[in-house]
Amino acid sequence: MSSRNEQDSNQEVEKLKFATRLLHFGSEIDRNTGASSVPIYQASTFHHEDVFNPPLYDYSRSGNPTRQALEDYIALLEGGARGLAYSSGMAAISSTFMLLSAGDHMIVTEDVYGGTYRLLSSILSRFGIESTFVDMTDLEQVKAALKSNTKAVYMETPSNPTLKITDIAAVTNWAKEHNLLTMLDNTFMTPYYQRPIEMGVDIVLHSATKFLGGHSDVLAGLAVARTESLGRQLKVLQNGLGTVLGVQDCWLLMRGMKTLQARMRASEESAAVLAAWLSGRKDITGVYYPGLIDHPGREIHEKQSTGYGAVVSFDVGSGERAKQVLNRVKLPLVAVSLGAVESILSYPAMMSHAAMPPEVRSARGITDGLLRFSVGLEDIDDLIADLDQAFAI
Ligand SMILES: *Cc1c(COP(=O)(O)O)cnc(C)c1O
Repeated sequence: MSSRNEQDSNQEVEKLKFATRLLHFGSEIDRNTGASSVPIYQASTFHHEDVFNPPLYDYSRSGNPTRQALEDYIALLEGGARGLAYSSGMAAISSTFMLLSAGDHMIVTEDVYGGTYRLLSSILSRFGIESTFVDMTDLEQVKAALKSNTKAVYMETPSNPTLKITDIAAVTNWAKEHNLLTMLDNTFMTPYYQRPIEMGVDIVLHSATKFLGGHSDVLAGLAVARTESLGRQLKVLQNGLGTVLGVQDCWLLMRGMKTLQARMRASEESAAVLAAWLSGRKDITGVYYPGLIDHPGREIHEKQSTGYGAVVSFDVGSGERAKQVLNRVKLPLVAVSLGAVESILSYPAMMSHAAMPPEVRSARGITDGLLRFSVGLEDIDDLIADLDQAFAI
């Protein structure tokens, strides 16, 4: 539907570097007024001036110009054909799973986000959609899970909270040989560091609540389809299920996304310093960060991503000590979630992974002493000094 001029300007934008695209994504100036941000079209419906020529937008569940600007923005950043915005990360993921039908089977990474695990194991299972959870760092395990009714493979890399690395190209190439749809949760890396569509992945998913929004003030989800045809199918599902993101939140998310690169870079720089400092301490029994020289899968990660992100997990040795640290820290938010301007310290054993049986948890390295630090924009010296006092016995 876009005019010749719009197509030309899209091609222009695609030539720009990532940091520039974040600011000049096509809708940064309102065409009607010259306003310096996308207007919030706070309207549920749109007047038909001529019923024989319906307007471009007719009802906000089916389409809204503010949401469209965000959807085009994320499609541009991920390099896909179409973007879609949802009311949360889980709304994006659940709506996308509706591409499957009763009787279909999916292969899923075993340390998938807890909410995705719950959705698959206790909700979609009731509708006859089956899933097998495998250690995706091992391609042989992925291959062994293939069944005659397998339709899709779901990846998440680096995974949460131990930052395990899946070889995106290897899994995707194998999946294509078997005509499987590939999906990837790109929340931890964002398109600044990792663009799975360029590696052949069909659908990229985001909890935009995290790094994309970046300020712990918006709940949102995004999906990007590699092809127009998949994009159309996702659009039908988004409209049919009504899982759309409200316009105020679309605007807030776009506001946050403009500073994605600046935030990610600063947080990553601090995360590297933090990971090195933690690695040098005798009272820390494990540090997980893809940027560490000995991190498993580091070479694969470096092949598919341009950075290591801002999440560092570490083991303080025991549950008792973990609770002491959580109660003593003064700077980070002690909370679920990640990817914000302020640092967030989480306790997987009691927060995100509380529902997992203790044996399964410890087999995956999610011990009672494991903490996850999402590094924000505070001065790293202050963050380290704060942790240092919290570690002191
Ligand atoms: C938070 C998160 C989700 C779920 O997103 P919501 O916005 O909370 O619904 C999905 N995947 C990952 C990796 C997450 O961190």
